[in-house]
Amino acid sequence: FRQPPASCDKLPVHGIAGTNQERTFLAVKPDGVQRGLVGDIIARFEKRGYKLVGLKLVWPTLEMAQNHYADLSKKPFYPGLCKFFSSGPIVCMCWEGKDIINQGRQMLGETQPLASKPGSIRGDFSIDLGRNICHGSDSPEAAAHELAMWFPEGVNDWAKTVDAWVYE
Ligand code: ADP
Repeated sequence: FRQPPASCDKLPVHGIAGTNQERTFLAVKPDGVQRGLVGDIIARFEKRGYKLVGLKLVWPTLEMAQNHYADLSKKPFYPGLCKFFSSGPIVCMCWEGKDIINQGRQMLGETQPLASKPGSIRGDFSIDLGRNICHGSDSPEAAAHELAMWFPEGVNDWAKTVDAWVYE
């Protein structure tokens, strides 16, 4: 059972957007790890039917945080955001499945927790903007970029045997 089955495709790390093999980068930020929310967050995606193909705990350096949020470097909150993001371990995840980039963002909620609906991760677990628990790629381009950054070693292609009960 140790070898991946021959039927496992070797996909690029970011999968194939628009198919059942679309992939996204999701992370539990330092506040979510400190608050013990990792298991709950993973469980939501597992129960929905999505497939976990990459998972690791990383304590980002300030430079890694700056690279991750480089597109926000002109914002006044950028220094504080990077300091916070590198203040403790994060849990890096790659999830795969139909529409996962968009659905992942929906399951996270709005950037502003107070505007997030109950039932979303941010709406259930957070209050302040700078402590909103989780990160999720917001486009196929961002997913490709962020997965290459956080999973340079690649992720795991594996066949999930219940997929026939998830997808018609
Ligand atoms: P998202 O995480 O929803 O993709 P952004 O990429 O716009 O949102 O911002 C990244 C993170 O920066 C947010 O999750 C939030 O923690 C923080 N942030 C965003 N806007 C602000 C702001 N105006 N003040 C402080 N922190 C902010």
